[in-house]
Amino acid sequence: MTARTLNLDDALYQYLLDVSLRETPLLKRLRDETQALPMARWQVAPEQGQFLALLVKLTGARRLLEVGTFTGYSALCMAAALPADGSLVCCDIPGDYNAIALRYWQEAGLAGRIDLCLAPALETLAELERQGRGEQYDLVFIDADKANYPGYLEHALRLLRVGGLAVFDNTLWSGRVLESSPESADTQAIQALNRALKDDARVDLSLLPLGDGLTLCRKR
Ligand code: CA
Repeated sequence: MTARTLNLDDALYQYLLDVSLRETPLLKRLRDETQALPMARWQVAPEQGQFLALLVKLTGARRLLEVGTFTGYSALCMAAALPADGSLVCCDIPGDYNAIALRYWQEAGLAGRIDLCLAPALETLAELERQGRGEQYDLVFIDADKANYPGYLEHALRLLRVGGLAVFDNTLWSGRVLESSPESADTQAIQALNRALKDDARVDLSLLPLGDGLTLCRKR
């Protein structure tokens, strides 16, 4: 037995997937198609997608926001977990991969629940605030350009209701968070976010070593 989080070697990780991953054939097909793209590493791990879906159901979330959608895997997981009157606003920039997301959402019959906004996410989030949508969202999943993570946190805290959840991906950043003076602006931003969240009295906090690190912040 161990009192700290296990290191998952390949065999143990495969076991975790074997006994717990319930990926639909459609999601598997989307993941395989995404794997062939040059930016394939942007895709969430399948067990993360399943965890996000569970979070949606656990929290009873009905209004969701996603920052960084790519080919739409995590959005599809979360949208499928919503009640029939639920909705998801997705932020991403224009790219060839947008069409893949839309195609799979259509095929799943969930496109009607998802609104894909193609613009820099900081602009879309500011626009939602201008439209009076502050404090209206139940859950925000953030998995976009890391340099803007601290900015996304501030928007998320304005757009979430009290008790709502902000979830950040890649907060362990393949271990690069340990670098003492990183040159990468992305690494610096993730380090800054992690340090700031530690003592941020506006949230309850847990950093899960799921995938590349998933930080859960509950708005107080
Ligand atoms: Ca990610």
